This record gives sequence, C-alpha cells and structure tokens, in this order.
Amino acid sequence: MESREMTITEFMISEQRRFPAATGEFTALLNYMRLACKRISYIVGRGSLAGALGAAGSVNVQGETQMKLDLVANDIFLRTSEYGGLVAGMVSEELDDPYQIPEEYPRGRYLLAFDPLDGSSNIDVNAPVGSIFSVLRAPRGTEPPEANDFLQPGTSQLGAGYAIYGPTTMIVLTLGRGVHGFTLDRSFGEFILTHPNLRIPAEGSEFAINASNERFWEPPVRRYVSECLAGRAGVRAKDFNMRWIASLVAEVHRILIRGGLFMYPKDTKDPGREGRLRLLYEANPMAMIVEQAGGAASTGRARILDLPPQALHQRVPLVLGARAEVERIERYHLEHDQGLDKAFQSPLFKERSLFIQE
Ligand code: MN
Ligand code: MN
Repeated sequence: MESREMTITEFMISEQRRFPAATGEFTALLNYMRLACKRISYIVGRGSLAGALGAAGSVNVQGETQMKLDLVANDIFLRTSEYGGLVAGMVSEELDDPYQIPEEYPRGRYLLAFDPLDGSSNIDVNAPVGSIFSVLRAPRGTEPPEANDFLQPGTSQLGAGYAIYGPTTMIVLTLGRGVHGFTLDRSFGEFILTHPNLRIPAEGSEFAINASNERFWEPPVRRYVSECLAGRAGVRAKDFNMRWIASLVAEVHRILIRGGLFMYPKDTKDPGREGRLRLLYEANPMAMIVEQAGGAASTGRARILDLPPQALHQRVPLVLGARAEVERIERYHLEHDQGLDKAFQSPLFKERSLFIQE
C-alpha cells in the first residue's frame, strides 16, 4: 500500500486502538488541545493585524507583566477545553487558582495544566513563541478540583505536548510512547505527522543559558559552562556554540532536532526563589517529552519528574537535553555538594568566566 500522510487525529486514534478499553475521551481531549493551539497560531500569525501585540497593562500571580497575547491565549485554552465535558479543572500560568468548569458544562476526569503562551516577551520582536500543556488524571473523578489535586509528580502525567509558533506551526506530543511532531498544513488547517519518533541526538555541541546571570550561578554550572567555552583546548576537547532564544518551547524544540543542553539553573539572584521555570506546566511536560525522546531533565540534583509538587506555581531549576550532558551536570553538582571539586574552585579557576579567559 502506498504510504499516506497521517493527520494528528488519525495518529491519536491509532494510538487509542492499542488500548481496547480506551473510551476515546483522552483522544477527544487532545483534539481540543490541537484546536486551541490552532486558534492561537492564527492570532499569533496575524500579529499587529489582530491588534494583539503589546503589554496588557496587568501583572500575573508571579509578578510578571502580562502581554495581551498571554491573556488571549489563556482565554482560548479555557474556552476550548471547558466545553467538551472532558476536563474537571485547569491550572494556568495566568491564573492564581485552579479554573473551575462553569456550571452549564459537565466535568470530565482529566486535569489540564498549561502555559498558554510561552516566551511571550518574544512576541513583539516576531521571534518564536509556544504553548505547553500537561494532562493529569483527576484523582477525585469529576468532583470540582482543589489545588491539591494538581500536585502530582510528573511521572503521573498521561501526556504532554507543546505547540511552537515559528516559521511553521508544529505540535510536538508524547502519550508515553515516544515523541511525535506534527506540522500545520495551513492550506487545509490540519496537523500532519512530519516528525515521527523524535530522538535527541547524543552528539550535540550547543548549550543554552542566560549568561547575564553568570555572577549568580553555583560552581557546578560555572564549571560546565567554562569547560564548554574552553572548547577544543579544554577537557571537553571540542568546540561548542551558545544559543539563547528566551522561550522554553523554542529551546526544547531545537534540542529535539539538534541535541545539546538547556539550563535555567538554581542561582543566587533571588534567594527566595529555587529557579525560574514552573514545575507543573513548564518543567514537567517538557521533562516528559525530553525523556521520551531519549534525553534527561533534572534540577541538577534530582530528576524533574520525581519531584513532589508543593504549590501550583512552584518554580524549579531546570537542566534538560542530551542524556550524557545532563548526567555530567548532575555529577558536577554531586561533586560540589561532596566537596570533591576543589580543583575547579582554585583561585586560578575563579578568574575564568564567559568573558575573562585565562
Ligand atoms: Mn513559559
Ligand atoms: Mn506564558
């Protein structure tokens, strides 16, 4: 038989068929995610023509300036997901508390956590943005969910995905059996399976970190970065390139295609804060995707997916990418915590930085 292109809906049905007891509800839920991302893609693509650029003049629960598109995308996720009777409640980056399904709609058995627009500071400069979502089972069925119901470790996720709104719009998805990428065919408005079974290349030589925070980094992170910068002449014996797009979605997407490492590590910039990225709707879904693609995701000291969440908007340090690179960073943290990295901490070494080389 001639091979035919597979739509994202067909792909989800084919996955569903592997489980004879499946009700199709999960497939239907993912269809709503697909629709929400398509709607957001359309508005992002219209940019100024849709009057959607710029700041909204408000601040979210985390003290971040909300862009108009943050609120538009949040509304699209809520409106698209609440209708179908599949979701018991939702958590969004843009809402303090769990969103309750309006009385007029039935509640379902799933919980959604999402970042409706990731990297929204990129919007006004026409650089890639995305959406991230995580699907959990509602532990108390169709009861109205409380915050506690969402505090499940990442290993409990039933599925996770992101959309990237770049030169093309793609959805990248895992249902726990590999990672698959779908490209939006704008001519007829459907996502087509274009990147089956994405695997993170082991031999990447790119790393991404916000170097303006260097003075706040812990020694293990300084050590890793300085070794990359030393290039061919250093212990890594090869040259690296640095990347920074300021959108987690765009960074993860690059790593899935080209390998390498992304870090937003623990730092001392704001001592009250463990990290920058949020566990429930950024770190956990991306960690599931990266692990399913053969990579790893860590705080530097622990696997992301094993963390017991303490709060809806909890932040965590995040290191993700090719497995060997993540393991190297974890080893550097361990050696530091055990006081075994003295050589690295010699006064001579302290002079090394991104911009001051020996
Ligand atoms: Mn984000
Ligand atoms: Mn966001």
